[in-house]
Amino acid sequence: MKISKIEHLGIAVQSIEEALPYYEQVLGFECYNIETVEDQKVRTAFLRVGETKIELLEPTSPDSTIAKFIETRGQGIHHIAYKVEDGVANALAECDGKGIRTIDKTPRGGAEGLHIAFLHPKATQGVLTELCEE
Ligand code: ZN
Repeated sequence: MKISKIEHLGIAVQSIEEALPYYEQVLGFECYNIETVEDQKVRTAFLRVGETKIELLEPTSPDSTIAKFIETRGQGIHHIAYKVEDGVANALAECDGKGIRTIDKTPRGGAEGLHIAFLHPKATQGVLTELCEE
């Protein structure tokens, strides 16, 4: 697959409202978009950092995977998202061919209108990995 950059870093937070002052007032980033991704039971806030972004992930329900993540590991870095230039579907097929376990079998819709798919952390040296394309 052809990866051009780190599209964003996903960070699990208990509350976007409580987390934003640190990112905006201390680090000086600007939050340009907040949206809820219903099927993932998360609310996301995006901040630009040069060529890449920070995605804050807040659970909208106790059975959200983000709620479970925070419960067991606390707030912190949740996933890394790479931008693929030759299609998420192709990348998934390549992973399949190389025996890399994926969470998604086909690309799905994510925040910001991206097509995304997750690779399983057990197959990616412990880092939950998201592949995305515009
Ligand atoms: Zn993400």
